[in-house]
Amino acid sequence: MADMINEKDRAELKLILADLKSPVRLLLFTRKSACPACARQEELLRELCALTAILKLEVHDTVLDGDTALNYKIDKTPATAVVGARDHGIRFYGFTGGFEFSSLLEAIIMVSTGRTNLDPQLEALVKKIEKPVHLQVMTTLTCQYCPAMVHVAQQFAFINEHIRADMVEAAEFPELSKKHEVTGVPKTIINGTASFTGALPAPAAYLEIIKAVDPGQYETLMEQVRKAQSAGKIKKAEPGHLYELVIVGGGPAAMSAAVYAARKGLDVALVAKKLGGQINYTAGIENYLGLAKVSGAEMTEAFRAHMERHPVAQALGSRVTKIEKSGPEFVLSMEDGKLFKALSVIYCAGKEYRRLDVPGEERFMGKGIAFCATCDAPLYKGKKVAVIGGGNSAFTSARDLLGFASEIHLVHRRLDFRADASLVQEVSRAANVTFHNPMEVQEYLGTDKLTGIRLESPDGKKKLDLAVDGVFLEIGLTPNSAPLKNFIELNPVGEVPVDRNQNTAEKGLFAAGDVTDTEEKQISIAAGQGALAALSAYKYLADNKLTKSKVSLKEAWQ
Ligand code: NAP
Repeated sequence: MADMINEKDRAELKLILADLKSPVRLLLFTRKSACPACARQEELLRELCALTAILKLEVHDTVLDGDTALNYKIDKTPATAVVGARDHGIRFYGFTGGFEFSSLLEAIIMVSTGRTNLDPQLEALVKKIEKPVHLQVMTTLTCQYCPAMVHVAQQFAFINEHIRADMVEAAEFPELSKKHEVTGVPKTIINGTASFTGALPAPAAYLEIIKAVDPGQYETLMEQVRKAQSAGKIKKAEPGHLYELVIVGGGPAAMSAAVYAARKGLDVALVAKKLGGQINYTAGIENYLGLAKVSGAEMTEAFRAHMERHPVAQALGSRVTKIEKSGPEFVLSMEDGKLFKALSVIYCAGKEYRRLDVPGEERFMGKGIAFCATCDAPLYKGKKVAVIGGGNSAFTSARDLLGFASEIHLVHRRLDFRADASLVQEVSRAANVTFHNPMEVQEYLGTDKLTGIRLESPDGKKKLDLAVDGVFLEIGLTPNSAPLKNFIELNPVGEVPVDRNQNTAEKGLFAAGDVTDTEEKQISIAAGQGALAALSAYKYLADNKLTKSKVSLKEAWQ
């Protein structure tokens, strides 16, 4: 058999493993018969352990050595327990290849060095949990977001003996995935009940655990957080109050604008559904100056913490639906019915995945309809899926699904495709791909779970009900510009046209980030545009004598 770890990776691993401090035992639980993944996992662990004397592999057959399996609370195979001076309840169920190899390495390093790198305050809180907590993080090996969640769960297990944390490869344990309705990963199960989907930062994961095991304490904690927020600089935006500036959005452009506006002394509020924007869905970022490698969740947290050092009023949890102007005042209507008023506005609502807006879409979103085939493809092993779209994203998704799904139905509204010819050729050659074009999705079918989609040709002559277990919507991104639709002219793809100082066509209304017609969409560009928009808004207010100048204009441009 060819080596699982290639020569280059072996050399890099040796360097990483050289920093290990105390011995770590890897206990592999196998079932020689009828467990193909057991042999692969054994081979992988043998190759890893051969790189350093500090790692020791012990193989136990769960049938022949049932007592040891029972002692380590092993209930399925293959299982790998990472054990140091004591057993911290850290387990990996399934094969730890792909992205999960990094989870295994993180666990080994933590157990050997004794360092979690958790924030000390959070570590103190996690240590206080006294109720038994069993965390099962359902993952796939192709999910780059999953290791972050696995690591948080295992950090908690490492420091608290009441907590156990398993990585579970969802595709290897289909019954468990079915039981917990895993249609997207990572999904975390707390004490046998499905809890949350997505990779949460450690403090948010802590709160989810408390919510699950001690709802009373959760309420008390949330009350304390609310009190701390109202006592500090974080204040709630007040509907009806006339702000000098309201920033719409919660991504890098918005938070950067908020920092600049607050530092100019503006009475500023930020209104958004939530903080982070698209970076919440980004696994790793390596091109933001000064942060060589950072996860999306860490970056959101760093931006939020920076912004909250300044007096920026916030209204989170609801989107803006409409922006109008009455005299010099802007009026912003929110979906929860609130109204905010401002003398200037910076609009940075970003972009989001485009949807079809056909019946059933809302109901099955996240329950059969997904956007990330790279992550979720292994969940559709042997199943029928549809991929909607005709661009590079749709064809990349179809390609990611080739090795997993039994049938891939590519549905596109036109005869010709936008995707690169080489990708189209590669996907067309596969035996398990069927093209349906030109066909449009009319409806998602199913009652409790998605069972299919209803298709119709654009001329209405062909109709087809296609039975599928999952749908990947790959029809691009769309700018969140609807609230401005009847207010200013948008470009043909719905973006907000801006000039070089982020002015829109409406005086006092500025825009920044991915919602604008700027060609390149990047985090650093959005943050730069946010800063520029705030300075332009400040100048606009000062020039039009709409604000008491708290900082001199000379200073404003420094
Ligand atoms: P895209 O190129 O804009 O393609 C979107 C596709 O969805 C188009 O085929 C479009 O159909 C269809 N569509 C849009 N709205 C629709 C609707 N309401 N109903 C049905 N179909 C609809 O978007 P993308 O594929 O996400 O790619 C975005 C950018 O990222 C592109 O520049 C792409 O090249 C790049 N990308 C590259 C790769 C790669 O190189 N491997 C992978 C992913 C993305 P029409 O053609 O009829 O408009």
